[in-house]
Amino acid sequence: MGATHDRYEPVIGLEVHVQLSTASKIFCGCATRYGAPPNTQVCPICLGYPGALPTLNAGAVELAARAALALGCDVHPRSVFARKHYFYPDLPKGYQISQYDRPLATGGALVIRLDDGSAKSIGITRVHLEEDAGKSTHGPDGTRVDFNRCGLPLIEIVSEPDLASPREAYLYLSALKRTLEYLEVSDCNMEEGSLRCDANVSLRRRGESRMGTKTEVKNVNSFRYVEAALAFEIGRQAEILERGQAVVHETLLWDSGRGEARAMRSKELSHDYRYFPEPDLEPLDLDPAWLEGIRGELPESPAARAARFEAAYSLPEYDAGVLTTTRPLADWFEAAVAAFDDPKEVSNWVMGEVLRIANERGEPVALSPEPRPISPAALAELLALKAAGTISGSAAKEVLAVIVETRRGAGEIVRERGLEQVSDEDALGAEIDAVIAAHPDEVAAFRGGKQGLIGFFVGQVMKRTGGQANPQLVNRLLREKLVG
Ligand SMILES: [Zn+2]
Repeated sequence: MGATHDRYEPVIGLEVHVQLSTASKIFCGCATRYGAPPNTQVCPICLGYPGALPTLNAGAVELAARAALALGCDVHPRSVFARKHYFYPDLPKGYQISQYDRPLATGGALVIRLDDGSAKSIGITRVHLEEDAGKSTHGPDGTRVDFNRCGLPLIEIVSEPDLASPREAYLYLSALKRTLEYLEVSDCNMEEGSLRCDANVSLRRRGESRMGTKTEVKNVNSFRYVEAALAFEIGRQAEILERGQAVVHETLLWDSGRGEARAMRSKELSHDYRYFPEPDLEPLDLDPAWLEGIRGELPESPAARAARFEAAYSLPEYDAGVLTTTRPLADWFEAAVAAFDDPKEVSNWVMGEVLRIANERGEPVALSPEPRPISPAALAELLALKAAGTISGSAAKEVLAVIVETRRGAGEIVRERGLEQVSDEDALGAEIDAVIAAHPDEVAAFRGGKQGLIGFFVGQVMKRTGGQANPQLVNRLLREKLVG
């Protein structure tokens, strides 16, 4: 494999299907709720009854335009819906309404950040609108078909073959998902099928521009499997080429259970979809002023927001990347910084305790519908107590956990639990004098140069105060008294 990989390089392009977050389907009024009982969200239009006419959902068009503009595409003033014909039990009409030679948008790019920190621009070939098909479930008692998915609004986002490794494909998919979530065009929930991915893979000899024969790997529908599926297919093609044979242009289905991609049966394939313009829908004409309005309202992209976090809050690149992973998390962080003006301290707490608690509770950090796992104001109150020296860092963690459980204020919890640090210099001075008087040998050793003994003295003072002394203050007072 190593030698093979030296000789060949992978060329990968991804086709990503994204379900748009509309309440109703793209060509009828049926609901799009996930998890509804099978065949309860259907009507004559999405079931393909003869004579039923589709009506385009304007909300789906707006979400698709938002995504295409954010990906830097040219959104065309006119695009055309087309029928894509194929036979499958989950496609009652016998064709899927899609867009073919006149798609909604073409020619964009998405910049991804590689592991070495460098940026790479991945071309976007096209973004087009289409409807989803139904879902077949194969069980021991036969195959069942659920048409609830029929007519769900999708965009297909096709990348240029700019991805040079499975890892790059993973990074592209992650960046695309984050971008679409920021735009609020889709929930991108892969488990629920809101984001699905097919990959085109070929190998070419290093240094040559001629492309090899490509295969299509379908059903790469989990972030966990993207890299595995692509690595499998790259290895398979490399072995074929090494044997001096030719890669066959075919479609393979990734089987995550077996960890392999196998060729689809020929009857599952159709190389001729007999596309023609959809006669029941007008061409989609978009008003340029309407499009510019959408462009003007695009939210800040994740990359732009991370860059702003670095600059405006003087945060390390790492922090800015973590804090902008999701738009709700970034919003939460900014609300917390507005309430407590020490961005690095807030960042440390969000990346540490707040995210840890959120993960444990299985509820992502967010501001709405209610702040989770705690409110930014509650964290600000806690950090103010710590900054004032009223409580120690470890006490603050303890209090944070109680705030999450009880939704009570930090001050109240600190008072109730007696967690205030002793920061009274006179009171601490008396305790320190007592410690010094009780350990004359250690005092002599310290003064003789054993500076490491400072930890011993701090420990003794903490013990006498039941752990409530302010350790920074104890340290300073001890040094003054031991040296002086
Ligand atoms: Zn319907």
